[in-house]
Amino acid sequence: MMRFAIATLGCKVNQYDSAMIEARLSQAGLARCDFDQAADVYVVNTCTVTDRADAESLRLARRARRLNPRARIIMTGCLAQASPEKLAAASEVDQVVGLARMDDLVRAATQQDVPRVAVSNLRKTKAAIDAAAVVPSGQTRAFLKLQEGCDQFCTFCIVPFARGTSRSVPPRQVLEILDALHHKGFKEVILSGVHLGGYGKDLSPSVDLINLLEMIAERCPIARVRLSSIDPEELSDEIIDLVAEAGNFCPHFHLPLQSGDDGILERMRRRYQTDDYRRRVERILDRMPDAAIGTDLIVGFPGETVEQFERYFAFIEALPLAYFHVFPYSVRSGTTAAKYGDQVAPAEIKRRAERMRTLGEMRRGQFMRRFVGTKLKVLVEETREPGCQRLRGYSRNYIKVLFHGPDQLQNHEVEVEAAAGGAMALDGTVVQSSLSART
Ligand code: SF4
Repeated sequence: MMRFAIATLGCKVNQYDSAMIEARLSQAGLARCDFDQAADVYVVNTCTVTDRADAESLRLARRARRLNPRARIIMTGCLAQASPEKLAAASEVDQVVGLARMDDLVRAATQQDVPRVAVSNLRKTKAAIDAAAVVPSGQTRAFLKLQEGCDQFCTFCIVPFARGTSRSVPPRQVLEILDALHHKGFKEVILSGVHLGGYGKDLSPSVDLINLLEMIAERCPIARVRLSSIDPEELSDEIIDLVAEAGNFCPHFHLPLQSGDDGILERMRRRYQTDDYRRRVERILDRMPDAAIGTDLIVGFPGETVEQFERYFAFIEALPLAYFHVFPYSVRSGTTAAKYGDQVAPAEIKRRAERMRTLGEMRRGQFMRRFVGTKLKVLVEETREPGCQRLRGYSRNYIKVLFHGPDQLQNHEVEVEAAAGGAMALDGTVVQSSLSART
């Protein structure tokens, strides 16, 4: 049996796509193996959000070639879509297959005839969106991609060029997939998209995200529905109220801010100001005081002066956020910001990123410690924590908890009494589970 290996770079949407590739290649009769093993086919699902991601994608192709000089090496993902020529020029690479060309990828992997570079212009062709839920291996929570592509063109972002125009899965199909997940025993689903706030605008008749979420609140039997990243100006009061009242939505919001300075937000072509962002945060915590609010922060954006960074830092310091993802700005060729002259010195970007990350770690610790001594509902993952081998899982407000217990608790939501733990997780003691409830 032919063996394949996949390496995935980038965001949750890329993880989702890799799980789809894995499912399709397994259906085609290939067996999956780890990327550091000798395989007949290597698939690198690339990312192009930064120049470093480009370099990492090519490094993985070279590694695959060393692992098996006769293997077929297929590059897909955002770099393959945005800069196919860059990958095609690499001697290690056999095939470059763009996004939304799954059939071609499977043909390439099964040695059928496919052009060496198979890429469509996704800003011109309205490529279908692969509607299915996926579960990355070892995980208990399912991902459902509702939306693909983006039409916003923030000045630092290559995604609209790489992933094409915004496309959505129709509500009826979404509900059918959720029903199927429920019947397979899934207790949590993460609703994801490249630009979730753009959901439904391409459908006829068009549908707003809130309409879909209302249908899910009413008709989805899965107990834990988690929203992935949504832009601040698209998080309406109605969505916040629905999450607060529906009972099957998790009080967890990932709200990318990108910068805490209004002048920089304007240069990024973001569609809100810091006051708008603060009001969103206050509105969420007013309805759900225990909600987790996380964010993405770019530091060192072109033109960001020391004064602007200090204002930015002070703005973040004053916000009750639970965690941050900090991205040191790096020039992304093909974006508007790459043409901006006033680039910040790399050493200064590094210094600002370290300072922001330190604040982020402090905030994460403070947020977790608030729940020491309280009871949290945790969905137990199907794999134990490496090292201590304790059970692990996330609370509804996205706190990781480690605790002792039998394997039978896996994929069950249990109630744990939380206690102080490490930097990334609390300790816990099971006080209630559907199993103990049954006996
Ligand atoms: S909204 Fe902006 S940052 Fe997000 S994918 Fe679209 S262009 Fe990129």
